[in-house]
Amino acid sequence: MYGGDEVIITPGMQRYIDRNNAYLAQRGQYIRDVVKKWKFDTIAVHGLYSVQDAIEDYQGAIIEPVFMSSAQAFRDSDEMAAALAYLIPSWCYSRIANPSTYYYEWTLALLEGYGFDGETSCCSTSSGMAAIMTAVQPFLVHRTHDRHEPRNFLATAQCYGGTFQQFDVRLQAERDIECRWIQNPANIDEWASKIDKNTRFLYGELPSNPQQGFFDIAAVADLAHSHNLPLICDTTVATPALLRPICHGADIVVQSASKTLSSSGFGICGAVIAKQNLTCSIDNDALKKDFCLYVKYLPNRDYGPNLHPMQAILTLNDMRTLRSKIDMLSRNTMKVAEHIEKHPQIERVEYLGMPNHPLHELASRYMWLVDAEHDDLYGKPVNRYGHLMSFCVKGGPEQARRFFDHLQRIWRATDLGRIKSVATIPAISTHQQQGEEGRKLAGIPGNLVRLCVGGEHPDDIIADLDQALHMAAKEK
Ligand SMILES: *Cc1c(COP(=O)(O)O)cnc(C)c1O
Repeated sequence: MYGGDEVIITPGMQRYIDRNNAYLAQRGQYIRDVVKKWKFDTIAVHGLYSVQDAIEDYQGAIIEPVFMSSAQAFRDSDEMAAALAYLIPSWCYSRIANPSTYYYEWTLALLEGYGFDGETSCCSTSSGMAAIMTAVQPFLVHRTHDRHEPRNFLATAQCYGGTFQQFDVRLQAERDIECRWIQNPANIDEWASKIDKNTRFLYGELPSNPQQGFFDIAAVADLAHSHNLPLICDTTVATPALLRPICHGADIVVQSASKTLSSSGFGICGAVIAKQNLTCSIDNDALKKDFCLYVKYLPNRDYGPNLHPMQAILTLNDMRTLRSKIDMLSRNTMKVAEHIEKHPQIERVEYLGMPNHPLHELASRYMWLVDAEHDDLYGKPVNRYGHLMSFCVKGGPEQARRFFDHLQRIWRATDLGRIKSVATIPAISTHQQQGEEGRKLAGIPGNLVRLCVGGEHPDDIIADLDQALHMAAKEK
């Protein structure tokens, strides 16, 4: 199924194939009968790394080992031939697969698939941008022999600055693949009106960074599927602890695991998670059946945007406490948003958790703290809105910069999702490259400050904001 010449299977290869099929069957059963029955926190803590794995293969190491090895050695030529023809799972060469990234991938596949009645898989990538590239490129191949065949896709205009560049410059300007920006993704008619026979996929970021755009995932997924197209979602800001698009009908999720999923800030990494048997108009059975395995074995083998095993384990380790961390960060953000909204020097606050936010009701239908109903603390479903908020400082871009320069506890950085509070001015940082026009399209004024509230006591963050606003006002 993965291309190449017809492989002649020797009896020696067949023995390896049989042995590995038995292993895969056993693993499948373990996932179905054990892991899929665990709560979210248990999956986040253990993933697929079991006591048995550790004792049999890894000298009992209780933490997943970091496999800093470029390649895997084979017992004999039969095993090598079977592995390289993808007839048995192996990790052959670390650009294609690696035992450390394997455990990272399985944890993410299971977390994004939590509550989904079907199978999911994951392909790790070196960054969130690489995840987006990995997710979209396979749908842009030529379907006919006509090299000038028009191609387009739909994407929410409110998106991460790097995503805007990838779509607008790399795909649209350089490769002539039209990106049709969706201005108001909450309006399903706008999506519907922009689809035609040359559309390849629908892409949406939610909540978007930094303006927290949102849309009705189930409705957009239904629309996509009615045209035989996949829906790809970037839910980096929410993480699977709050929102799992595949459960609502989306086909693929991309994550910048560099951000909230890791929160420690130890480095850059990404992931693509897809459901099996996805919907698309590309005639390729391997791609449809297990998208992540397909991209891992073929396009990413050839492009090489693979994740380093060290980074995989660092991020995996951070993800173990994802649910409780997101809960805490969300509560802190709510408290900061409520305080700053009343501040006389603030023009407006945008946080999905605020009842007066125009998308609050829509977001409340989708953003729930996973397993809150099974939690001693809550015992019932609770909405949580994550730790990204933004606000506009009165007095224009200059005043916003004065305020920004006076922050003491909050870090000035183009970063988000940290356990430390971080603020940025998108117009001069993350969204600088796309220029005035692109920012207008995405609705990013010069006095907008993005704040990602961390794990500090919220009173200390509020005090820092207050003193910076006070100092800026004195300077005006
Ligand atoms: C940061 C970010 C990305 C890109 O991820 P990297 O890991 O920095 O490459 C993509 N989407 C969103 C929403 C982001 O915040």
